[in-house]
Amino acid sequence: MPKQQAKKCIVCGSYSEEGLLCFKHKTAAKSLTEGYKYWKEAFNISFNEYLKEVRKRSETGTWVKEIIDYVIASNDFNILLETC
Ligand SMILES: [Zn+2]
Repeated sequence: MPKQQAKKCIVCGSYSEEGLLCFKHKTAAKSLTEGYKYWKEAFNISFNEYLKEVRKRSETGTWVKEIIDYVIASNDFNILLETC
């Protein structure tokens, strides 16, 4: 595996000051993990199911949908947990 050279967002490829996620996808990741705390208490669902539910909702923002798509496709849930 080559080392990550450029600071690029793994979701959209934009320049990222802070590493794996650009500002907008980091913000989206944070709101996702924070939202899960409530969903977990209210509905007792897994993180995976939570992501799919949020993805289906029309009020979910584009950035959030993009990171959900990335996480589900890559099965890389750590990216959400590590950034928050
Ligand atoms: Zn991004």
